[in-house]
Amino acid sequence: MTDRLPVIIAGAGPTGLMCALALRKQGIPVILFEAEPALTHDLRAGSYHPPTLEMMAPYGITDKMHETGLTVRKWQIRNRPGDLVAEFDLGLLKDITPYPYRLHLEQHRLTPIQLEILQRDKEVEINFGHRLESFTQDSNGVTVTFATKDGQRTVKGSWLIGADGGRSAVRKGTGVEFEGFTWPEMFVVVSTPYNFGQHGFALNCYIADPVEWGALFKVPDEGPPGLWRLAYPVNPEESEEVLLSPERVENALQRLVPTGKPYDIRYKSTYRVHQRVAASFRSGRVLLAGDAAHLNNPLGGFGLNSGIQDAINLSDKLARHWHGESEDLLDLYSRQRRSATVEQVQAMSIRNKQTMEERDPAVQRQRLEGLVAIANDPEKARQHLLNTSMISGLKRASEVQ
Ligand SMILES: Cc1cc2nc3c(=O)[nH]c(=O)nc-3n(C[C@H](O)[C@H](O)[C@H](O)COP(=O)(O)OP(=O)(O)OC[C@H]3O[C@@H](n4cnc5c(N)ncnc54)[C@H](O)[C@@H]3O)c2cc1C
Repeated sequence: MTDRLPVIIAGAGPTGLMCALALRKQGIPVILFEAEPALTHDLRAGSYHPPTLEMMAPYGITDKMHETGLTVRKWQIRNRPGDLVAEFDLGLLKDITPYPYRLHLEQHRLTPIQLEILQRDKEVEINFGHRLESFTQDSNGVTVTFATKDGQRTVKGSWLIGADGGRSAVRKGTGVEFEGFTWPEMFVVVSTPYNFGQHGFALNCYIADPVEWGALFKVPDEGPPGLWRLAYPVNPEESEEVLLSPERVENALQRLVPTGKPYDIRYKSTYRVHQRVAASFRSGRVLLAGDAAHLNNPLGGFGLNSGIQDAINLSDKLARHWHGESEDLLDLYSRQRRSATVEQVQAMSIRNKQTMEERDPAVQRQRLEGLVAIANDPEKARQHLLNTSMISGLKRASEVQ
């Protein structure tokens, strides 16, 4: 019976690993394929919201993350030159979640935790150095071809999960449209051990400014003192060499907090940001999850969290189908997670960016005053925290039929 063939997962990022763990927990055979020879190590996400921590807890991941992660109860809105505008305290949610805070831990410290737990399961085959090239599907299953250093390898499965990131070969193979747009500006991300906390900065801050808005957050790095990461927009017409020149990067940091002496810069990079959502997260026996299904700007820290939330929802539906329920559940997965993505993540991340970058001083003052009023009213602040922590969005999406 074809449904007894394993589920093939492409991509061993946080989403693909979470899919593998969640499916295995429900007795489903899986084979995982990752293009790179090892887990990727680039500097990306690092902030986890309460529902995501709750979802990963039954696997032992959340406890392990707490061993090195930073607990961030308060986050702030600031302006340039760094004055406090509003502060939100996630402690207001302590009656509804065991994790009333954001946990900060680099993505490349999460994936080894997931992989180590997955590797304890001797029935899971994990293949690095396998790049998905193409696939075919019929009503019975999928046939997937990978490029390896020893040539091509073809594998048959019952379902294919594309968790292969923003440039997903799986998504492209389905022909499903990736609807949305790319922001015109580029972003620079720089990291420094300089302690912004001594100036009252919370470990997670959004900085409003018509020209040089940004996001500042602290990650644990190898251990104390940790690293503070600043992301800010730049002109894409300038070369990377100029944008990342020591002088430019130094100036950006000095404009935030003038120190009178050079910052110790540990990492710097540029990247482009998109707002895109796949028209459907299902195409026959092929399912999309994580960045393969949606991309958003980093303001709010939703991308990686959404990938984990996709993985849990998808694995639940696929397992129920595996154990006898209708395969229509996979369409429900697509509807629920698309709804959470479009109505919550896309809407909030775009709104966050627009608030931070608003060029009309009067409009920006009005928006920031609105945030101050919310922060000063415990009931409104609680609702704001439920939204920005993805709790309300998940609840609304779970009601989608
Ligand atoms: C600078 C930056 C900062 C960010 N900050 C945050 C944040 O604070 N909070 C947040 O929630 N999100 C953040 N994000 C987004 C977050 O990093 C992504 O949403 C997250 O990586 C998605 O995980 P994923 O597993 O879906 O995809 P990925 O992490 O991209 O993993 C995909 C995996 O698939 C593999 N792969 C690719 N192609 C193939 C193929 N053909 N065959 C097999 N394997 C393949 C890749 O090598 C990779 O290992 C940030 C992103 C960036 C760029």
